[in-house]
Amino acid sequence: MSRFWSELASRLTPYVPGEQPRGTRLVKLNTNENPYPPAPGVLAAIAAVTGDQLRRYPDPDSSALREACAVREGLSPEQVFIGNGSDEVLAHAFAALLKHETPLLFPDVTYSFYPVWSELYGVECRPVPLREDFSVAVDDYRAGNGAILIANPNAPTGVLLPLAEIRRLLDANRDAVVLVDEAYIDFGGESAVALIPEYDNLLVVQTVSKSRSLAGLRVGVAYGHAELIEALVRVKDSFNSYPLDTIAQQAALASLQDEAWFRDCCGRVMATRDFTVRGLEELGFEVLPSAANFVLARHPDHAGEALFTALRERGIIVRYFNKPRISEFLRISIGTDEQMQELLSALSGILAPR
Ligand SMILES: *Cc1c(COP(=O)(O)O)cnc(C)c1O
Repeated sequence: MSRFWSELASRLTPYVPGEQPRGTRLVKLNTNENPYPPAPGVLAAIAAVTGDQLRRYPDPDSSALREACAVREGLSPEQVFIGNGSDEVLAHAFAALLKHETPLLFPDVTYSFYPVWSELYGVECRPVPLREDFSVAVDDYRAGNGAILIANPNAPTGVLLPLAEIRRLLDANRDAVVLVDEAYIDFGGESAVALIPEYDNLLVVQTVSKSRSLAGLRVGVAYGHAELIEALVRVKDSFNSYPLDTIAQQAALASLQDEAWFRDCCGRVMATRDFTVRGLEELGFEVLPSAANFVLARHPDHAGEALFTALRERGIIVRYFNKPRISEFLRISIGTDEQMQELLSALSGILAPR
């Protein structure tokens, strides 16, 4: 706190990202990064960037990338928005589409950045409790709300809401924007992008960070009716005209051009997830059903925080949230088979009676 801070800066409670330890050989399973490298074409595209390209400002609209995303989804470029990571796309959506007289609804257990943006942009929000099993009860989100925001699969639970339920949510809220944050949709879910031609109130946000192994690149995408996209563009052009650098635009484009690599990496992560869930269950853990590249698990006889600390001491970092309803759980990102084997061995040692 300083006397130079604005009232806003003094009041904020910023989001706390997962730890990024430097220069240590830890098994890092705390930020849902993909354990596999991006498609080879991505590094080639980065190497091909010229000094002359960098001398100039980038394309402010990421036109080539926008076009490629549109083609991939069978939409027009006017139905696509590109931002500096989906975090930025979501932040713009808070300012452009989610702020109204009536409150924004999102689940009580979800991505912890949502309340932070609500605070930053002065969006009144109301958490809606998930069911006991951490599934979204669609009927609790009724018409008359300002907007609705659902991460699907949800984070940090990993629980997927089936597309038919998203459709019910849209049908019951035709006069409110329904934003579906699909950061993890490529790990086994069915995307709501297919519903965009039918619903002018649907905005779907995706990212290359998790399923395309490009968290370091910072590229996120929104799909929706052209009028929703226009609102995002208006906010973007009032904030930063050049959110994506030239390198990021060309690299993300190269990633989109290698569908086989993408499918293969997602498939490997899903197979490793299945094996991890079985291993955790054999150790007595309760594991929530996950359609993401992480699992949320708790042990009936061991406190979540104690397990987190014991793993940390053995060089394995997972994520622990000291928050209502999930304070006994660990969120464990899916790494390689070898990393998950290390995790299971470490847990087995920790749980063994001394
Ligand atoms: C990781 C994550 C994001 C942010 O992804 P970036 O594109 O890297 O900014 C957004 N939403 C959820 C639910 C996430 O877990």
